[in-house]
Amino acid sequence: MHFTYCPDCGTKTVPRRMGDDGDVPYCERCQKPLFDMFSTCVLSVLLNSRGEIALIKQSYGQQETYVGVAGYMKPGETAGEAALREISEEIGVSAERAEFVFSAWHAAKEQLMLCFCAYTDRADFALSGEVREARWFPREAAAKAVRPGSIIERLVLAAPVKKTAPNL
Ligand SMILES: [Zn+2]
Repeated sequence: MHFTYCPDCGTKTVPRRMGDDGDVPYCERCQKPLFDMFSTCVLSVLLNSRGEIALIKQSYGQQETYVGVAGYMKPGETAGEAALREISEEIGVSAERAEFVFSAWHAAKEQLMLCFCAYTDRADFALSGEVREARWFPREAAAKAVRPGSIIERLVLAAPVKKTAPNL
């Protein structure tokens, strides 16, 4: 989000030179720069000890392809905590740990996606109302179940599926 108006007082911003950042929208009334804002989201694939990948279909939006578990970060959380929380909330699995894989800019939604692999030995899901279906896929099938060229496809292909889950 690029600030044309100050979100606090409604004054139209003016560009002001801010060192290396160049021109930044500035509220002359509040006397503060208003840097562009965007959301940060976590996106995860869940792996089991057989190297299978869990993908979901959401209850809303497009239904053709499977997606990963994703959600917005909350203030005070680390990205890894957010990834584990979303997995717990959406499919009812307490994953062992979440390992950061890569980050990607989701241009269509103007979101920074922080992508994780999480591990579990549980095969059963307890779905939230936001999730219509969750399934385990072998890696090749998982790569075909997601939208070609998507961030989740890149994450599925990057997932270290041969690694077994810890403490098994
Ligand atoms: Zn202001």
